[in-house]
Amino acid sequence: MRRRVIRQSVSQGSGAAGRASRVLNASKWEIDPIIAYVDPERCINSRGGKCDICYRACPYGAVINLPGTGQPSSIIPAKCHGCGTCVAECPQNAISQHHFTDGQIVAQLHALLAEKPEEKVIAFTCRWCSGMGADNAGTSHFEYPANTRNILVMCAGRVDADFVMEAFRLGAGAVLVSGCHPQDCHYISGRNFAETRITRLFGQLEKLGISPGRFRLESVSATEGAKWARIMREMSTVVQELGPEGVRAENEKALPQLAKRLARMREVPEVGYFMRLVEGAPLKGAEAGVQQARDKGLSQTVGVTECQLPEVTACDACQLAAACAPETKQAKGGK
Ligand code: SF4
Ligand code: SF4
Repeated sequence: MRRRVIRQSVSQGSGAAGRASRVLNASKWEIDPIIAYVDPERCINSRGGKCDICYRACPYGAVINLPGTGQPSSIIPAKCHGCGTCVAECPQNAISQHHFTDGQIVAQLHALLAEKPEEKVIAFTCRWCSGMGADNAGTSHFEYPANTRNILVMCAGRVDADFVMEAFRLGAGAVLVSGCHPQDCHYISGRNFAETRITRLFGQLEKLGISPGRFRLESVSATEGAKWARIMREMSTVVQELGPEGVRAENEKALPQLAKRLARMREVPEVGYFMRLVEGAPLKGAEAGVQQARDKGLSQTVGVTECQLPEVTACDACQLAAACAPETKQAKGGK
């Protein structure tokens, strides 16, 4: 028994050393572009606040946080692994994540729920476990209803409570948040943050009249295709038993409170921009800046004076070029 443990320890130690040597021996190290970034104007610390929520949420020490100094929080790009947990935790919606912005995820929700929303089961899945579990269900031919629609995020920790509420506001039949088993979380603690956040939401949605069973939190590993299919069958059964009329009645009852709770998300310029486009309302302020930027193919990382993607001429990663520095605009061919 002891020999096996020592062998395992040596093997795991060698693996860790091998991964570390890749970094230490490289003259240049490329990081994934899915990192988080802070909008300094929205961070409450820039107005003298004393918030350290993002700092406490990050398992990699990637957040620079100086509460009480008037300095907004910021992210060290080289340390950020892109789980998105700090993004969902920020109470001011001051943080976003390239390729997984609030605007992009809300736009997916609107597209997926454009038709017969009361029949749909929306599943937010993490990239590493549940997303692969769903693939496994497909490749293994485990049957489940065709009314499920997946939205992939890097970690369940990225699933903002606002996304769940927006799904119900748009009329969804049911919503699932599914991540890794807590001990297997690819980002150490993202799944635990999701659990705390989503557990809080259970009670809130129930008070608004959303039936239990229409909203679930689950853990599905990459090999648990059968479990994925079972969860989807169960959730679809709840939706079918309630029927479209029943789903609509519950959602409509919850609508005023959901709209109230979602007001802050609409203050994020790119979300406000998208919502106003959908609703045909005139754009204003920063939202108009977002549109101008998109028209010109400009983009800039908010809070950073120089664009992080200078070689890309029509980048759409952050969609927030309203704060784009003039020299960056020129570099990108703007006026
Ligand atoms: S959680 Fe948000 S408001 Fe709080 S310090 Fe971080 S960025 Fe600022
Ligand atoms: S919590 Fe995740 S997304 Fe946020 S800074 Fe840390 S690693 Fe990056």
